[in-house]
Amino acid sequence: MTAEYTAGKGCANRMKNFSYYFIGPGVSLNKINPAAIIGLMGSQSTHWADINADKIVREHGEKEIYVCASGITPSGTIHIGNFREIISVDLVVRALREKGRQVRFIYSWDDYDVFRKVPANMPNKEELESYLRKPITLVPDPKGSEESYARAHEKDLESLLHIVGIDPEYIYQAQEYRSSVYAPGIRKALEEKETVRKILNDHRTHPLPEDWWPVSVFCTACLKDTTKVTGWDGEWGVAYECESCGNKETVDLQSTAAVKLPWRIDWPMRWKKEGVDFEPAGKDHHSEGGSFDTARNIVEQVYEGVPPVTFQYDFISIKGRGAKISSSSGEVVSLKDVLEIYQPEIVRYLFAGTRPNTEFAISFDLDVLKIYEDYDKCERIYFGTEQVGEKKRLKEKRIYELSQVQDVPGKMPPQVPLRHLCNILQINGGNIEEALKMFDDLDDEQRARLETRARCGWNWITTYAPEEFRFALISPDADPIQVSADERKAIQALSAAVRTKLENHDERSLGEMIYSIARENGIEPKDFFRIIYKVLIGKERGPRLASFILTVGRKKIVEILNKYEGA
Ligand SMILES: [Zn+2]
Repeated sequence: MTAEYTAGKGCANRMKNFSYYFIGPGVSLNKINPAAIIGLMGSQSTHWADINADKIVREHGEKEIYVCASGITPSGTIHIGNFREIISVDLVVRALREKGRQVRFIYSWDDYDVFRKVPANMPNKEELESYLRKPITLVPDPKGSEESYARAHEKDLESLLHIVGIDPEYIYQAQEYRSSVYAPGIRKALEEKETVRKILNDHRTHPLPEDWWPVSVFCTACLKDTTKVTGWDGEWGVAYECESCGNKETVDLQSTAAVKLPWRIDWPMRWKKEGVDFEPAGKDHHSEGGSFDTARNIVEQVYEGVPPVTFQYDFISIKGRGAKISSSSGEVVSLKDVLEIYQPEIVRYLFAGTRPNTEFAISFDLDVLKIYEDYDKCERIYFGTEQVGEKKRLKEKRIYELSQVQDVPGKMPPQVPLRHLCNILQINGGNIEEALKMFDDLDDEQRARLETRARCGWNWITTYAPEEFRFALISPDADPIQVSADERKAIQALSAAVRTKLENHDERSLGEMIYSIARENGIEPKDFFRIIYKVLIGKERGPRLASFILTVGRKKIVEILNKYEGA
């Protein structure tokens, strides 16, 4: 096998000396799925976000303002699968707004949920255990930096969502419950207790017990929900006793923070209260008899409301993190982990380019390079510098628009393939500022994007890239390697050529020259390539040699080759 492989040559012209190709065994790259859209030709977008936006208007009629909702319990690190829900809503919200509709995008933190289980990846587990059965908003932050455990998780996600261009209106349910905003909704559930019971029982194997109530109560003495409702006065008074501390009392729904609706009733109550027009949900909620079915019935029959338009989104899996993730250690892959490897636009692209009901994997392995290439191609199609069929163009154009964190750039940003950028970073030992000196003429926005890409690239190289992809330039001070007399002469010839006429060469002519230097000195070209890689990076293989030399530049190459001067 020759050290320099030929894959990708077809693109060498287009990418000029940016055509860096990693040398290694043939790697099959799983195609990430931008098959987002089945569609018809025409000016009408067939992107799923647009289709759902149209459906909302069609099914809920003309409204001054449409409410799109998402939400979760902040009871642990929010994993990337949950992010799929939020970005699905964001994409539909954008589609609605682009159609001239006013939209309220609400994100409800269910931080009045009960703390049921200490997640495996939390520090100070023992201390946390003493808070089990209390509202998560009362559990302290085990890292000690935020006011509560719930708030710590909320803040983590809120700051990251802003980075990917998602800025919903946050609703904190603990605040809402504590200020008795939901009191009428709770009372309604109590009044319609038998209707609620019937709806829930329709989907249960074992019917709810006779003494069941459609509320749960946090004891005001010990703060746990280990309570039993003992009566309701038909208005605002709810009586309970606590099984943990024995406390007995009657609380007033209009002023107490103690009473909460269980999830299956809380959800439709909030649909009604906020007037939710759209909310997607995961497979677990959308299963037959799952919480979406019961919520639909409860909102219609108890709250006299209309269920939101919805769809089911599928799971996300993770690929190529190796030993860095295992479910037994409780580690979850969060948006933060994904943003360490992918630019915000490309995170959006992954989701905008995939139909929500399709399962897909987020890759941390070599596929990362392919996904960056796909995104760059989508960008070229958007700006018309790469030609494709009209149907494909419309599809990619819409995906590109929806992938942007803010507005679409006014002109096509300069493209530096991640593969190439990773090589430049490695040539510069990871010094991003130094590496980016190769690119002048960038405006501030372009520079910021490229810096982000470089940071992601360096994270990927140092954390996930396969060993054979990594290299570092040999220091000019390091001892030279053993070479034969012919090899030394050939290295000297290459050194002279680089010193005197590198700027006359492009990748092709420099490659041809390396071949002829090898032959003139009686060395098989493949052996010469191997020697040059050993001399420059201490490995037998590396990036495409000619373009690598052009990128490293005369000064650094000559400094290293100089060691081989003399007889
Ligand atoms: Zn108690």
